[in-house]
Amino acid sequence: MNLSQRLRAKTLERYQLPPEQCDDAQLFHALMAVTQQLAAARPAPAGARKLYYFSAEFLMGKLLSNNLLALGLFEEARELLAGMGRSLSALEEQEREPSLGNGGLGRLAACFLDSIAALGLNGDGVGLNYHYGLFRQKFQDLKQHEEPDPWLEAESWLIPTGRSFSVPFGGFTLQAVLYDIAIPGAHTGTAGRLHLFDVERPAPAPAHGIAFDKGDIPHCLTSFLYPDDSDQAGQLLRVYQQYFLVSAGAQLILAQLEERGFSPETLSQHVAVQINDTHPSMVIPELIRLLLERGLSMEAAIEQVSHTCAYTNHTILAEALEKWPLSFIETVAPQLLPILRELDRRARARSDDPRTAILYGEGRVHMADLDIHFGYSVNGVAALHTEILKHTELKPFYDLYPEKFHNKTNGVTFRRWLEVCNPALSDFLTARIGPGWKTDPAALEELLALEGDDAALEELLAIKRANKERLCRALRARQGVELDVESIFDIQVKRLHEYKRQQMNALYVIYKYLEIKGGRLPARPITVLFGAKAAPAYEMAKHIIHLILSLQALIDADPQVRPWLRVVMVENYNVSWAEQLIPACDLSEQISLASKEASGTGKMKFMANGAVTLGTLDGANVEIAQLVGPENIYTFGASSQEVIRLYQEGSYRSLEHYHRPGVEYLVDFLVSPELLSVGDPAALAALWRDMKHKDYFMALLDVEDYISVKERALAGYEDRPAWARKMLFNIAKSGYFSSDRTIAEYNRDIWRLH
Ligand SMILES: *Cc1c(COP(=O)(O)O)cnc(C)c1O
Repeated sequence: MNLSQRLRAKTLERYQLPPEQCDDAQLFHALMAVTQQLAAARPAPAGARKLYYFSAEFLMGKLLSNNLLALGLFEEARELLAGMGRSLSALEEQEREPSLGNGGLGRLAACFLDSIAALGLNGDGVGLNYHYGLFRQKFQDLKQHEEPDPWLEAESWLIPTGRSFSVPFGGFTLQAVLYDIAIPGAHTGTAGRLHLFDVERPAPAPAHGIAFDKGDIPHCLTSFLYPDDSDQAGQLLRVYQQYFLVSAGAQLILAQLEERGFSPETLSQHVAVQINDTHPSMVIPELIRLLLERGLSMEAAIEQVSHTCAYTNHTILAEALEKWPLSFIETVAPQLLPILRELDRRARARSDDPRTAILYGEGRVHMADLDIHFGYSVNGVAALHTEILKHTELKPFYDLYPEKFHNKTNGVTFRRWLEVCNPALSDFLTARIGPGWKTDPAALEELLALEGDDAALEELLAIKRANKERLCRALRARQGVELDVESIFDIQVKRLHEYKRQQMNALYVIYKYLEIKGGRLPARPITVLFGAKAAPAYEMAKHIIHLILSLQALIDADPQVRPWLRVVMVENYNVSWAEQLIPACDLSEQISLASKEASGTGKMKFMANGAVTLGTLDGANVEIAQLVGPENIYTFGASSQEVIRLYQEGSYRSLEHYHRPGVEYLVDFLVSPELLSVGDPAALAALWRDMKHKDYFMALLDVEDYISVKERALAGYEDRPAWARKMLFNIAKSGYFSSDRTIAEYNRDIWRLH
């Protein structure tokens, strides 16, 4: 049966209606069911060793288009619906984004699942089935408010498996019920799985906001991703979540090993486990525990697990390196304590450097240390990041185990982030260089032949303009804002964190506002778009959102400035917003403090969609700069070495930078009568004081250089043919950042699945 016949059969069966007479919701659900059945019917890829990718989050985005594409039905679906006077994008309005992830780490996991499937590798994801996500962001009184973000309906992408595992907590046991999402591989005929564990009787959503009874583990364990851990109940809940994930996941691994006909003694030969950041690190002692139960000796169990598990480090921010108190483990999973003590003993026998111990003096378990000692691979996520790990952050470990360290520069799937989200550009690429780039994004380099082709460059500009118009329509519909499509679209979308320095971008807005107020108009209007969620307990991040929203309100109400400068913060930034924003971007803001952004993947999506990067030499920006050359990127700011030195010496003094004449008036604007007339004086003053006296992520160190380089970028935009060439270069060189390339490297150097 072709897609048309399948869809007809489905709508007749479900609604006793032909597709033409179904409404969008019915048609969406029927198409989802057809797609899901086709994906679920596909076999798993072959392979002697099977990968399990453990992650606290998977930021999947909507799945309909992506799955149709992987099934080879995307064009057929588009044409079929068009023939009925309908559109795929209208149907997708019916789809809810799964609330299973929140930021770059989760989106990386989702891109990886897509690439693992597309490369026909035998690998599955393992995660938790959160019901209400991180939160849904609402703006009220120029501030962020948090609501539950439910995504599960009677019908969803989840496939019940009928399978469950008992997870033994201290004092009680919970069943972990397994659901799967099928992940079809593009051009393979096979499919992987995302395995999601849930409690049996999940709690309903809180009536107001996202506060709930954090002590009600049996019902609330899977309610939220990263529940607020500013109190002890919240911290304990996170440990319960982590142990639930790894215990159920480890049991699944051993059950499937047995089903494949292999004995537990051969675990490492037949299984690879990738630990995505430290949240799933307890999988190491848990696998050891389960192997002991199955009769292996401690020696043999440790040997097997040490050749099964591999660890990816995602950050050098101290706050993110988990160190749980032993007392928490004692409460949540007391059965792990003897194993952790044994692992600590062995680690200390290997090195007398106390920095590599697993159990710290004050009774804490250092999760990353566990991974490094008892995993066989440690990888960073961009070249610079891996170098910092080897020579600074994890130096004592690198001295001990140099052979374990790898770099695996992150990537993104070009199927979602180019083919699906930017059909106009995809069609252009295929018309100009053929369809080879779809299976091998490195082929985008063939675009370089068009460097002198004026018609091609004109067309690129026209496509960008059309995507900007599409974004304007979305913003009008969803947020009621009206934007000038002729203005330059300058976009910073990512989680809100001081190290990402949205506050520095806000200082640029203040600079430009005051320039315009002083009669110095820009060559062309500028639209500065932001999108970001702040962690609910992260005060300073919330103050920065308030600053941006206050600037937005101030400018919107100012008829002198508004025609020249706009600030728009999209509400509830998520994958669906990203898919609209990224194709419409002219200037991609990647302005983290050098050394702090491990890689960044948003920048790769922007690059592939023809945006030009304005960035520091941080994370994967370094590799972008090397690929495109200095003509095709705008870089600024202190180097990672300078920044690392400032931290080591403790010699950064924000007040000295504040007192520079180009800086002080910008920072002081935070507490100016103009801004205080729209914003909350307490929040703005707190942010002002912090910038002036602390500025831990050194926005004031780089702000002047940032402003002058940004001005140069905006001036560069006015030479339209030259800008179009920069766009072309960026697209042409973006193929390196395909997650297919990243995953091929993981497989070659770490997983060795076949
Ligand atoms: C890609 C992506 C991210 C990661 O962005 P960075 O700029 O790398 O931090 C976060 N959120 C969403 C929705 C994304 O699509």
